[in-house]
Amino acid sequence: MKKENVTGAIISGIVTGVVTPLTLLLLPVVIAIASKIVTGSWTSFIYGIPVTAWALFLLLILFWLGFNISRSGRSSFGVGILTLPRIYHEWQEVGVLEYAEVKWRVKSPKLGLSEKFDPSMIRLELPPRCPTCGTKLTEHRAWGKYVWNCVGCGLRKKNKKNFLQTSEDAEKLAQRHIEEDIEQREG
Ligand SMILES: [Zn+2]
Repeated sequence: MKKENVTGAIISGIVTGVVTPLTLLLLPVVIAIASKIVTGSWTSFIYGIPVTAWALFLLLILFWLGFNISRSGRSSFGVGILTLPRIYHEWQEVGVLEYAEVKWRVKSPKLGLSEKFDPSMIRLELPPRCPTCGTKLTEHRAWGKYVWNCVGCGLRKKNKKNFLQTSEDAEKLAQRHIEEDIEQREG
């Protein structure tokens, strides 16, 4: 009845990487174990895989998929006991840095209780914001320079470096500010 949907879910799971290489590595083992349980021989399934066994695999994969999909909404991604490293964090704004006459929002990952904050974890939001009205700036090249524009208030600024290059400098500064902050608090 819903067989097509189920197959579709598995295929899309494989395509989107929900099914990790780990699952694929485990499949032969699962096949062998199921073979041993059902037929008493480790290899008989490999030669003649019955429909019931395929159904069993399908269920196992679905169970695993469902488990991971429900977990991936949260912070970690794993198969029960074996938890793989975090793949993403939620980000929160921790401050605003003024650099190159524009404003950069400083973001930091929301950490779990067991994780330690490191200043190198911070990232600056791109593009930077207008210092006057807070709108995200736009950028274009003109005469070998970069022109930063604000669509909110019409501010216009010329710069030698582009947003990305400037953000790398600004990020180092922001990291230093946070390090100083931590040093002050600790000692
Ligand atoms: Zn503006």
